[in-house]
Amino acid sequence: MHSLISQLIENPDEKTLVELLNAEGALKDELISVAANKRETGVGKHTNLRGLIELSNVCSKDCYYCGIRKSNKEVERYTLTDEEVMEAAQFAYENGFGYVVIQGGELNSHRFIRRVDKLVLAIKAIGRQKMGITLSLGEQKEETYRRWKEFGVNRYLLRIEASDRKLFEQIHPVDAHHDFDVRRESLDRIKRAGILCGTGVMIGLPGQTLNHLAQDLLFMKNLPIDMCGMGPYLEQHDTPLFDRKDELWDRRTRFDVSLNMIAMLRIMMPHINIAAATAMETIVPEGRRMAIQAGGNVVMPNITPSCYKQKYNLYDNKAGFNDRATLAFEKMKGEVEDAGSHLRLFTQEDGVE
Ligand code: SAH
Repeated sequence: MHSLISQLIENPDEKTLVELLNAEGALKDELISVAANKRETGVGKHTNLRGLIELSNVCSKDCYYCGIRKSNKEVERYTLTDEEVMEAAQFAYENGFGYVVIQGGELNSHRFIRRVDKLVLAIKAIGRQKMGITLSLGEQKEETYRRWKEFGVNRYLLRIEASDRKLFEQIHPVDAHHDFDVRRESLDRIKRAGILCGTGVMIGLPGQTLNHLAQDLLFMKNLPIDMCGMGPYLEQHDTPLFDRKDELWDRRTRFDVSLNMIAMLRIMMPHINIAAATAMETIVPEGRRMAIQAGGNVVMPNITPSCYKQKYNLYDNKAGFNDRATLAFEKMKGEVEDAGSHLRLFTQEDGVE
């Protein structure tokens, strides 16, 4: 085995990580094949299925990279009705999805929190208390996370976006609503509330170096996290960060580094869930298959009613814009099989993991 990979398994340090993030050719092939072995022994050969429901693109935040940021006047705002959420959850349950993921812009009002309570209860009923729920609704107070846990939430995804404070502050406004310490602290709140905690970063941000990404990997290992969703940064033309597009790595490089990140994290954390994210597929058509082969073990077909999908435009040219839920699901099945894996479908006997 290449000495850098042994070092990665035994005791990864920043220098080793930076070298491996650059891996190409034979070294990259070995990295990916070691990651594939760790995937199989750590979490099995199958791939987990989550149905992604994009609840709303209304957001109180103004993150410089994100297409649904509050100040973007070009987006038509929407919020799914209860019936639309229930229909999607029913689709998930009937098709053997073990989980739904409710994602949306960040809101903190009592009204919003109570609506989420209600949705969680209703989805739990649809799933006969057995279908799991992941939320991805931004930073909240600890009491809110605890409350949602009591209502039945199993997991929460909150990407740190960039674990380096300076970089974080370059891609967000610095004010009371966008505070690195609060985002960091929110991950601890989720864990203290007893919810399985996921985080992740964007890869290839303007101003980001391989050292930043190496530190991101160490950040996730040290937390430690239960799951990770990370993928390439993609430009969105109505956002402030678009002005820095000339500084970016080309898209293929962002993809290649993302693939190395997935493989490396899999080797560092063999037992966690790692998503093969949509952003990968946006750059390379077979990107999701490649992410699964490099260690990803979770796919999240978008089951939001298709008329809303193009309004949840976090970045330009998001893959699967026009797909209906059934098509998104079928496509995903094919990609997982092409990767030599299979979807783990949920049956009545299964419980939430
Ligand atoms: N409000 C939730 C969910 C945000 S959207 C929260 O705060 O966690 C989900 C993720 O999309 C974000 O965490 C971010 O990492 C990613 N994202 C947003 N804009 C992006 C872009 N331009 N390119 C790539 N990923 C982006």
